Amino acid sequence: MADDALPGCAATRSPQSIAAGIVTGRLEYYTRQFSPYSGSQLQIVEIPRYDSFFGRAHLHTIATTEDNFLSRVDEGEIDQPFYGTAHEVAHQWWPGQVMGALVRGHGFLSESLANYSAMIVVEKTYGPAVARRVYNFQMDRYLSGRATQSREVPLLEVEDQPYIAYRKRAIAMYSLREQIGEEAVNTALRSYLEKYRDAGPPYPTSLDLYAELRAVTPDSLRSLLVDLFETVTLGTSRPSGRWWSRPARASTA
Ligand SMILES: [Zn+2]
Repeated sequence: MADDALPGCAATRSPQSIAAGIVTGRLEYYTRQFSPYSGSQLQIVEIPRYDSFFGRAHLHTIATTEDNFLSRVDEGEIDQPFYGTAHEVAHQWWPGQVMGALVRGHGFLSESLANYSAMIVVEKTYGPAVARRVYNFQMDRYLSGRATQSREVPLLEVEDQPYIAYRKRAIAMYSLREQIGEEAVNTALRSYLEKYRDAGPPYPTSLDLYAELRAVTPDSLRSLLVDLFETVTLGTSRPSGRWWSRPARASTA
């Protein structure tokens, strides 16, 4: 268990306590790994469930539906209130601190980074096996969404395709992290934040973030970057435990 991990999260622990712990613990992780939190407080507001979403992030405030406070998490289940809150907390950085340009590729800059960040804190807190289940969940959602579309765009061009922006991008970032290491990925994210935090127009695009990822990726893995972000490539995981095999190119849009 990493030194920034939350204490044990037993099945009987109250969701309110989980939410409070997440805010404290995840703010600490994101602050240390990315940049200081921009406010002096972060509040979670309970709202009725009028829609299917988990919650919405606003600057210094997270609105989340009441069922997340009422639900129990049994042993062996993925802690959705934990994961969802970690996702919403990450929005305080993406796009809370860096607003991307509303151009092709804008889906690359917020939801995907929030999902990737949440996957990392799940791993830090519950371990790689649980993170792997989240990874598989993301992959299933991506493949389901992919099956309904006639044409898939590369990650660098994603706009309003949730199965790519939320799912595939998080998978790609997590897979890249497996190859180049967490510190390298976080270095790229920190550099992106330092260059564009609270910047006015012109706002950064997916290519600006991609440039930071390229800068921390060894030349020997540049082709992996192309497969993950520039083309439409279907990845698979192998029994060896690696999270991303060098994939065969399935299709290119
Ligand atoms: Zn989100």
